[in-house]
Amino acid sequence: MGKEAGRGRCMLFETAFAEAVEQRLLLARDLRHAIEENELHAFYQPQVSIATGKVVGFEALLRWTHRERGPISPAEFIPVAENSGIIVDLGLWILREACQQAKAWLDQGLPPRTMSVNVSPAQFWAMDFETAVAAVLAETGLPAELLCLELTESLFVDQSEDRISRTLGSLSALGVQLALDDFGSGYSSLGYLTRLPFHRLKVDRSFVDGIAGQPAKRKLLAGIIALSHGLGLSTVAEGAEKRADVDVLRELGCDTVQGYVYSRPVAPDAAPVVAASIEAEPLPDHRPQCLIP
Ligand code: C2E
Ligand code: MG
Ligand code: MG
Ligand code: MG
Repeated sequence: MGKEAGRGRCMLFETAFAEAVEQRLLLARDLRHAIEENELHAFYQPQVSIATGKVVGFEALLRWTHRERGPISPAEFIPVAENSGIIVDLGLWILREACQQAKAWLDQGLPPRTMSVNVSPAQFWAMDFETAVAAVLAETGLPAELLCLELTESLFVDQSEDRISRTLGSLSALGVQLALDDFGSGYSSLGYLTRLPFHRLKVDRSFVDGIAGQPAKRKLLAGIIALSHGLGLSTVAEGAEKRADVDVLRELGCDTVQGYVYSRPVAPDAAPVVAASIEAEPLPDHRPQCLIP
């Protein structure tokens, strides 16, 4: 390759890189105003008990509708929020929003269901997190045992186990539940699972999706569920899309399923309706997807 061609490629790369950086800066700038501009929303995805067919909880998921670009996926904006520190405000916003919503449903006479909220490591270490959670519970009136905080393995990067253990211990003492999210997707040191006070293990979608047709995957999942139950944790499978996958999960003794097979994340008004329809008809081959936004 000639010197000139090499230089050309290098410049192309530099241009692309500069554009990507510029994009992220713009996104971060807009995200900073998203809360006050009312561009953020919480959507809710049902979690279904395999044994009873009841909706036992919801996971709150952030949605951002940019005034010019329209909906932007969390896969795109959450990393920007994390790298810029904006996640601290966003995380507190959705925590409060989701707790308020769960309390409102309780007050409307709907059955008690846990509300799961994702927490980024940055949020955890940016403040006295257990005090912030206690304040939100007090302010909204949601019973602590109906809140579940979802944490990922990335929480364990660069932090002493002592510090993690203290914070998780205080949260657990408040009565909130703790879930380890995306289990199996990261680097895994199983040691912390035995030492930290988690209540639930959420199996990453990659181990669940299409499990019915894949014997090797099924064995892996059976092992994960056995591990989880062996440690006294309840097991939640994420990302089941087909009825056949739920049949396998039931055979393997998984406790709870969250996936498109039951419902996508939906707007707050639709969530109780979706829950009622899931409970009325356990698992049709084809659920009418008219409520999907
Ligand atoms: P997560 O916490 O693991 O959430 C589950 C994701 O899987 C959601 O994507 C959900 O819509 C998707 N999902 C659920 N069932 C299925 C299925 O059957 N098939 C497929 N293909 N996908 C399914 P979403 O809403 O795009 O969120 C992506 C990730 O962004 C979340 O993964 C979480 O890591 C992050 N995120 C979303 N909201 C928040 C938030 O409020 N705070 C923080 N810190 N992170 C958030
Ligand atoms: Mg989650
Ligand atoms: Mg997950
Ligand atoms: Mg995730």
